[in-house]
Amino acid sequence: FNRELQRTEKLKVISDLAASVAHEVRNPLQVTRGFMQLLTERSDQKHQPLFTTAINELDRASGIITDFLTFAKPEIDQLESLDVREELTRIESMMTPLTTLHGGVLTLNASEGLAIKGNSSKFKQAFINLVKNSIEAIKQDGRIEIHAYSEGKFVCIRVADDGDGMNPDEVAKLGVPYFSTKTKGTGLGLTVTFRIIEAMQGTLEFRSEKGKGTEATVRFPLLS
Ligand code: ADP
Ligand code: MG
Repeated sequence: FNRELQRTEKLKVISDLAASVAHEVRNPLQVTRGFMQLLTERSDQKHQPLFTTAINELDRASGIITDFLTFAKPEIDQLESLDVREELTRIESMMTPLTTLHGGVLTLNASEGLAIKGNSSKFKQAFINLVKNSIEAIKQDGRIEIHAYSEGKFVCIRVADDGDGMNPDEVAKLGVPYFSTKTKGTGLGLTVTFRIIEAMQGTLEFRSEKGKGTEATVRFPLLS
């Protein structure tokens, strides 16, 4: 028992370290990207593609950190009781600036008193990946709506957007590692999201129509 406890504590140190390394690595990446951009503007035509490739690769590294590492910690994290509305309110305020930057509007409508069993940092990671995809799918004046309500013995959380949408072939590939239709996509966001939601005994379903929008529905067992 004693040895097990020590192991768990060591793993906790490692997972905290991973999260802070992710944050620390992002800053030098951004600085390097800034200098690269400056150099692009000053270099001759012949060398432009090299800089473009370098910048794209830096963006890919940042993307992997965001999709994969920022909040998610290894499995050993304790499951705790989460207040769904509280968690979603934090996510709303974290994601509003990026939504505004893309010319869209993000709204949250969550019932009070919805509790689930989960882990706060993982919950954030899962829903940030969903909202980020919606942000990347919308156009000017696009709308993203998050709804949370109870449905029998379940908590339903729906993230809906009126963005690009997907055809059935694309919907079928959601969650497959490295599936991405974006030039700078990692294709890891939904892989991580599916894993996190399943680890919390939840399910994730997509409904989408090309040109109309996408609806992601997450269901967790209601904690009573
Ligand atoms: P990435 O965002 O890096 O491409 P994801 O795993 O997050 O990887 O998403 C995989 C693909 O699923 C995206 O490239 C996109 O084609 C599609 N997708 C996911 N969410 C949406 C959405 N809300 N609207 C339209 N397409 C989406
Ligand atoms: Mg994504």
